[in-house]
Amino acid sequence: MTTYKSFIAGEWVEPSTGEYAENRNPADTRDLIGRFPRGDVRDVNRAVESAKKGFALWKATPAPARGDILRRVGDILVRRKDEVADLMTREMGKPIAETKGDVQEGIDTAYYAATEGRRLFGHTVPSELRNKWAMSFRRPIGVAGIITPFNFPLAIPTWKIFPALLCGNSVVFKPATDVPHTGHVLVEILLEAGLPPEVIQLVHGPGRVGDAIVNHPDVALVSFTGSTETGSKIGETCGRMHKRLSLEMGGKNAMIVLNDADLDLALEGILWGAFGTTGQRCTATSRLIVQDGVHDTFVKMLVDRAAKLTLGDGRKKGTDVGPLVNEASRENVERYVAIGKDEGATLALGGQRATGGNLDNGFFFQPTIFTNVKAGSRLEQEEIFGPVLSVIKVKDAAEAFTVNNDVAYGLSSSVYTRDVNVSFQALQVLDNGITYINAPTIGAEAHLPFGGVKATGNGHREGGWEVYEFFSETKVGYVDYSGALQRAQIDNY
Ligand code: NAP
Repeated sequence: MTTYKSFIAGEWVEPSTGEYAENRNPADTRDLIGRFPRGDVRDVNRAVESAKKGFALWKATPAPARGDILRRVGDILVRRKDEVADLMTREMGKPIAETKGDVQEGIDTAYYAATEGRRLFGHTVPSELRNKWAMSFRRPIGVAGIITPFNFPLAIPTWKIFPALLCGNSVVFKPATDVPHTGHVLVEILLEAGLPPEVIQLVHGPGRVGDAIVNHPDVALVSFTGSTETGSKIGETCGRMHKRLSLEMGGKNAMIVLNDADLDLALEGILWGAFGTTGQRCTATSRLIVQDGVHDTFVKMLVDRAAKLTLGDGRKKGTDVGPLVNEASRENVERYVAIGKDEGATLALGGQRATGGNLDNGFFFQPTIFTNVKAGSRLEQEEIFGPVLSVIKVKDAAEAFTVNNDVAYGLSSSVYTRDVNVSFQALQVLDNGITYINAPTIGAEAHLPFGGVKATGNGHREGGWEVYEFFSETKVGYVDYSGALQRAQIDNY
């Protein structure tokens, strides 16, 4: 069995605690992947000290040269795509086609970042005074704390780490306890590509490691993806300590199917949206809002198809749905099934642990569909993060939009309709960071901004061009070459 280490101050090191946690395959818990460090605040303190030195070196490196290293990272990911996807599925369970997509998102993000090194645009604008120059430009900020969840073990760290590095920051990275192996490999790849060692620090460990990063006075900015509960705590600390903070948190995303929808297309969308990644996506479709004219027909089509999904090891051919990531997640799903029943919703499919044969060795749960779910009920309002879909019947598009918006979260939404007017109304009216027309709630592309409104986020976006604003500070320069004192707002008015 391999014992892994954290990467601190340019070396692979054991944790100060001497403690390790086992990392097991959620599809078959007999399969032990390795032992990973359970670090604590002492490891974080060493990592931040080193990252400060890394920052001094890295911020002086021209942005295009920083981009060249990220291009090499992309090249290595291309070469190792299949191998990395396989180890990701082994540690978190989603089918291999999905982990390949996860790696591809990292590749896309690397190549986007590489070219951004030759942009990082500022603005040059006319001054209101004669013989005076006015411009804005970008500066690196400092040590960036990066804290990530388990469900996109490669893509989410790359969404944060690559732009952070491109902008000239150094990074202290804490991956989720459930996916340390992917974090380890990502750091290996960054080093292989030529990143100076002190620019990246990897501290494995439980939530206390994340907490120590957030509370460290020399960590200038924090980028977090995870639950709204953890994000709220981080937000309090960062507010008190005046830190720049990007939060990407929970979702309760809905797909709306209207009477004029292409039902076959919507069916493919809902199966992928609700049960892909076993429902453990921030953008997973956990609510299906269906207009009354097609409700009964569509629900029947859906239940028939969902009942035929193949559960199993994501590394085996033919698997549609993998396990939940751990036993606590499966128990949480069970709790919500009980809540749904108590609230009077109709269990139309699933509702149980999936057992039999190899499924007995993993954290499997049947794809589950509740119908007659009431808007406002807990089942309809709270994030479950598992393969549980709630169906809500509505009379028209206006009611569908109201139900969509009447939750605390606001990440993504989707509408199936052939009516172009309704499509554009939806884009305007739905309170989400992303709305898809005739596609499921899943499907973000690396070169567009990604994020949500309300309790999903705090106003920042990942991906695309906007994330570079988060990871850099705008500075303004004025150059007065008139040779005289020119007073803005006074001398020319
Ligand atoms: P989580 O429990 O909040 O964990 C996220 C990360 O925070 C993990 O690395 C975790 O470490 C760490 N952490 C735990 N306690 C902490 C603390 N007190 N201070 C600092 N860090 C701490 O979330 P998860 O269960 O991994 O992921 C599922 C959640 O992520 C869902 O709510 C989902 O919607 C959300 N998510 C959102 C997006 C988005 O872009 N909006 C994308 C993906 C996922 P440990 O693993 O060691 O506990």
